[in-house]
Amino acid sequence: MIRPGIDRGNQWFWDGVDRHQLLIQRCASCGTLRMPPAPMCGACQSLEWEAHPAAGRGTIHSWIVSQHPTETDALPRIVVLVELEEGVRVVSNVIDADPADVDNELPVELAFATYEDVTLPQFRLVRS
Ligand code: ZN
Repeated sequence: MIRPGIDRGNQWFWDGVDRHQLLIQRCASCGTLRMPPAPMCGACQSLEWEAHPAAGRGTIHSWIVSQHPTETDALPRIVVLVELEEGVRVVSNVIDADPADVDNELPVELAFATYEDVTLPQFRLVRS
């Protein structure tokens, strides 16, 4: 499978996506979570880490509707910064939603969507 930006350093993340897991890097020494991944723990400077599967729940910290400069998008492209319940933030998209229904602090849940053979971790609004 061809993915843009994949290399030996992030293969573990995309292997998780293939299993429908959103993996967070966790320091094996002190347990601090970090997203995006980095080679060294900012809290204790350890280079040892493990992959921790996110529960898949969070809230919208911030969001925008991204629009193509010259072509109309078939569906609104909602870009979100999600605060995961684990306490780290991830940039993703909200799918299957009207931008009028999106707001900060709303709960979202992890979903996986495939576009042209590329699977991505995405989020859906949690309807109450
Ligand atoms: Zn650490």
